[in-house]
Amino acid sequence: MSGTSISDRAVPGLLTKADLSGGLSFEEVRLLLALTDPEDVRALLETADRVRARVVGDEVHLRGLVEFSNYCRKNCAYCGLRRDNSHVERYRLSADEIISIAGDLDQRGIRTVVLQSGEDLSYSAEALADIIRRIKQSTSLAVTLSVGERPRVHYEMWKQAGADRYLLRHETVNRELFDAMECGTSFENRMRCIRDLRELDYQVGIGFMVGLPGQTLDDLAGDLMFVKEMQPDMLGIGPFIPASETPLAGRPGGSLEQTLKCVALGRILTRDTLIPATTALATIDEFGYELGLRAGANVVMPNWTPLDCREQYAIYPNKRCLREDPDIWLCTLKERIAAMGRAVSAGRGHSPKKAALSAD
Ligand code: SAH
Ligand code: SF4
Repeated sequence: MSGTSISDRAVPGLLTKADLSGGLSFEEVRLLLALTDPEDVRALLETADRVRARVVGDEVHLRGLVEFSNYCRKNCAYCGLRRDNSHVERYRLSADEIISIAGDLDQRGIRTVVLQSGEDLSYSAEALADIIRRIKQSTSLAVTLSVGERPRVHYEMWKQAGADRYLLRHETVNRELFDAMECGTSFENRMRCIRDLRELDYQVGIGFMVGLPGQTLDDLAGDLMFVKEMQPDMLGIGPFIPASETPLAGRPGGSLEQTLKCVALGRILTRDTLIPATTALATIDEFGYELGLRAGANVVMPNWTPLDCREQYAIYPNKRCLREDPDIWLCTLKERIAAMGRAVSAGRGHSPKKAALSAD
């Protein structure tokens, strides 16, 4: 148990350092990820919570998630929507439906819409640009896109149409693991997309899953060091949840504790990045939102996909909020956030890393 005793000695000093700055090394991050003593783990999560409170305050930003198509040309081994899964009943929302949902969000004071889908090329760049333009004209919403890898010109067109943000998780910086996931894309192209989005001045979100089969502690520490280097505007970290009818069905999923440690380290290494308590986290634990929000997160993404489509957007099974009426769920969520002594933000919650926008 010599490893344990080294970390025992190092933990208090490391946490003080983590509290004061995000300048941790790979070895230090790895050591913190390896903590197992419940007191140590609690101290790590509390450190992240303190950094979150001090740097970005107690506000929680809500993002309305609209999963507008579950068609996908990719074949990611981990994902229930992969192309080869013929058990999925596929659907697409029309432009009018998407714009009407955005209007509903605006009326309810949710100031960001996240338009997410599989990689569905039947929405041309022009068609999506038109949807974005119509949302921007008819509402005061910030628009976040999460539609996967596209050519730079598409990203450019959407930015010009008014899109504010883009979520594209890097998934893993371990190329071998990336390739083993057989997504039908290359690590290089994923990085090219992230680079293009940053150059085009989007607020960009990256992130990764915790507990992918074959993923090691070194891999997770590598992902967190990549996050430290990139200093993204947004950071999505959730547990891997095995989905049926995929090559990874039946494999173990990511653990709650390891995911929370990664969220905490994400906060510590980035300081003011927008970090959601993810739906995947809330799926593996009834109190996943609370636990994430107490481990450094400051965003929640209530699902605003029409109820009759939700079950089909099964990236992973038993997603939180499959059947909840969105308005009732929104009330519950606000109550749960208030019960934690936190407040729902009334603003659009732009990235503090974009100084010119952050007051908005
Ligand atoms: N098609 C787009 C957006 C939808 S997928 C894209 O891939 O970027 C959004 C995220 O869901 C992915 O980035 C991945 O990290 C996560 N995801 C996919 N399958 C998952 C699973 N089985 N468990 C947990 N998260 C998963
Ligand atoms: Fe498609 Fe995204 Fe799922 Fe990959 S993770 S199969 S790109 S929806």
